[in-house]
Amino acid sequence: MQRLIAIGFWNDGSDDCPMHNPQEFIDPSGDVALRESLFHYLRTGHSFAQYLGFSWCRFACGIDENEMGSADLGDGVWIWPEGLAHYVARHEIRLPNEFVEHARANGFRIPEVELQGDAIEDTSFWSDWCGANTNGDADAQALWRRAPDEIEAADNDIYEKLIEKHGGLADKICMWAGCENQALKGLVFCPACAHQKMNAWP
Ligand SMILES: [Zn+2]
Ligand SMILES: [Zn+2]
Repeated sequence: MQRLIAIGFWNDGSDDCPMHNPQEFIDPSGDVALRESLFHYLRTGHSFAQYLGFSWCRFACGIDENEMGSADLGDGVWIWPEGLAHYVARHEIRLPNEFVEHARANGFRIPEVELQGDAIEDTSFWSDWCGANTNGDADAQALWRRAPDEIEAADNDIYEKLIEKHGGLADKICMWAGCENQALKGLVFCPACAHQKMNAWP
């Protein structure tokens, strides 16, 4: 059976999720041309699995969730979520050298390959790499885990500005577990969750 090496899968905020947060892997020192090449490579992978919902940016930067995609993409050896390209290009997330060198060896063009429908997405490499390469940014974890009652009234001003920036509230509920506030337009979180948990600023 085909075994694909998974990368770029992030914590989803659930209590038992073992994945890390992208904030732990920010590397602004990276080469801009390489970042662009990787963006192109990551965006053009073969579609492997399609999910029902769209992903969201863990930085709550305002990108439309449609842009983050709803599929996993692959090149026959590696597999990643469609939204990973955005993290690399916009949030300066670094990726494992093993993957970068593989993409480089392909001339940053996705090879013509068949992805088997029953291939296994193996996350063990990614878990090990994340564990060994995290910048130890505990804040990233804390932002995810902060309880709603820690939200201070002083933040109301920030929420107002976030609502203004996003052009209002959407006609749907925030997807943070237990939150029943209305989400911001174009985002999956309400102003409070976007700011307190995702570190979004107007
Ligand atoms: Zn983003
Ligand atoms: Zn919320």
